[in-house]
Amino acid sequence: MVEAKLATGNAGAAKKAASGAYVPNDVSPNRRVQRRYSVRLWSVRHSRLLEWFYVQFAHGFLLLHPMWKAIGYRRAEAPVTFVEKRVKGLLFDCRMCGQCILSSTGMSCPMNCPKQLRNGPCGGVRANGNCEVEPDMPCVWVKAWEGSRNMVKGDAIMAVQKPVNQSLRETSSWLRVTAEAAAHRQAGEDGRV
Ligand code: SF4
Repeated sequence: MVEAKLATGNAGAAKKAASGAYVPNDVSPNRRVQRRYSVRLWSVRHSRLLEWFYVQFAHGFLLLHPMWKAIGYRRAEAPVTFVEKRVKGLLFDCRMCGQCILSSTGMSCPMNCPKQLRNGPCGGVRANGNCEVEPDMPCVWVKAWEGSRNMVKGDAIMAVQKPVNQSLRETSSWLRVTAEAAAHRQAGEDGRV
């Protein structure tokens, strides 16, 4: 199946090469097979809708805090991570870094940058707005800027992001943000903030 796809891709590439057009490699240097990015790009185009949806979703998740607490955040981690990985994998090509910043990056996941830059693009963006490492892929930071311009809180893209904490990989951002928000709310009620 994979061989058949690659063979079809090779035939297409040979045809393009014969026309004199620039043809990127079929396989990127980090071994990701060329693919379409249509769903990811759809998410960026609909960043305002997704921003609104995320606010409602986060609120709903926070309302469920007593349930998460009763189950135990640790015990809930595996099933919630399972769902989060699939939903965000479909919509954003999420890499489960565990510290989601989609709302600050126009709904374009920065972990899809081959250099995993979290604070804007490198200097190698191509004239057509594509990545210098993966020539067939639109630069995630060019898309992040476009997506952020549609969002109510799009200027959050200006905030400097911390380096990725690798120990949070494959953990649920949803649960972590909820636990932090619940702790913050509790501190407010106790008069500690
Ligand atoms: S920023 Fe992290 S958690 Fe958010 S979509 Fe990207 S890899 Fe997934």
